[in-house]
Amino acid sequence: MKEEYRKKIALLGSTGSIGLQALEVAKLRSFDVLSLTAHSNIKVLEAQIREFKPKYAAVSDEKAAKDLKVKVADTKTKVLAGPEGVMQCARADVDVVLNSIVGMAGLLPTLAAIEAGNTVALANKETLVAAGDLVMKAAAQKEVAILPVDSEHSAIFQAIQGKNDKAMIKRLILTASGGPFFGKKASELRTVSLESALKHPNWSMGAKITIDSATMFNKGLELIEAVWLFDVLPRQIDIVVHRQSVVHSLVEFTDNSVLAQLGVPDMRIPIQYALTYPRRFESPVKQLDLCEYGKLTFEKPDYETFRGLEICRQAIEKGGLYPAAVNSANEAANELFRQGKLGFLEIAQVVEKTMQALESKQDYSLQDVLDTDEFSRQYVKSLIKN
Ligand code: NDP
Ligand code: MG
Repeated sequence: MKEEYRKKIALLGSTGSIGLQALEVAKLRSFDVLSLTAHSNIKVLEAQIREFKPKYAAVSDEKAAKDLKVKVADTKTKVLAGPEGVMQCARADVDVVLNSIVGMAGLLPTLAAIEAGNTVALANKETLVAAGDLVMKAAAQKEVAILPVDSEHSAIFQAIQGKNDKAMIKRLILTASGGPFFGKKASELRTVSLESALKHPNWSMGAKITIDSATMFNKGLELIEAVWLFDVLPRQIDIVVHRQSVVHSLVEFTDNSVLAQLGVPDMRIPIQYALTYPRRFESPVKQLDLCEYGKLTFEKPDYETFRGLEICRQAIEKGGLYPAAVNSANEAANELFRQGKLGFLEIAQVVEKTMQALESKQDYSLQDVLDTDEFSRQYVKSLIKN
């Protein structure tokens, strides 16, 4: 007999790359999708409302929310507007909130979900990079689980299941695909086009994270994400370039035994695991055929060319608000690159300058993080003008 397994979920950022894949998983598992959110893509959101019939849909752009309200007036879905509407969806009475919003905009909804006592499946790594300390403390206080969706962190999370003693963990090894420019030197990267930077070798993802993968800021952000999720020191985390993206990450224990999680590169596995944790179910993802790959390779990252890694490592070692500054400056610089207003190598340069310009403190409040966000964006803008 087929087992009944139902879950109520809120899906923030449902129109994005992770959001769409999460809905495929939700459909397969017959989950109840209670709420859906987007920033402005109401065309896709309208289709999702008609298919999944959520109780709520939120659109953070107020004008787009108004338009959506008219379009779905014939449905039972209540349309909420603005960032507050998105937060209302995060607070809904659900089993799990999947946050797949891109960027800093995901931070307040994550905190809202935690505040409401909701389990969070977290794809929005920027939440932890910007305010890891606050988020993890709030989650501990509310006894809320933060389940990783990012494939590397999901791999580590899967590898440490049943091993409750943190002292047994010696080192985390994050794998990195290396992005489209691995092997290239700075002189070859000065004039790369947006089109070539958007061509990721293994994953199809949203624009921001695809550029972050090309600069390798993505791996730097993931290092910071891992520090908070697994409560380890930055120096306990190593990064290895693994071009095939089959070994999603590894954990080394005190006895030098290493556990890894493998699979074909497909986000539906980590998404489903976070949504059904601690259980596993069949998935639509292809089986891994190791012989098809033949060999798996591992190499050292080029820290000199891809400065993003080192900048993020420095930021988390310095602590305080430095990671928040790096996160926001990178978000601003990434967008400027996509708009053709900044060169590829200049992304790391302006992020580093912003970090150097920041005056930080070790203990910070949410308001400090939001102020640092504002400062960093303005600082990046001022650098571009000069
Ligand atoms: P996308 O750009 O594809 O989607 C982003 C989603 O967030 C969309 O639904 C978008 O709405 C919404 N959004 C954008 N801006 C805002 C805002 N200001 N307020 C509220 N919602 C907003 O991103 P991805 O799906 O690629 O990535 C989402 C998150 O998951 C990122 O943090 C990324 O780092 C992480 N991640 C992604 C992976 C992937 O494979 N894609 C892998 C691992 C992690 P709209 O469509 O209306 O603009
Ligand atoms: Mg990742």
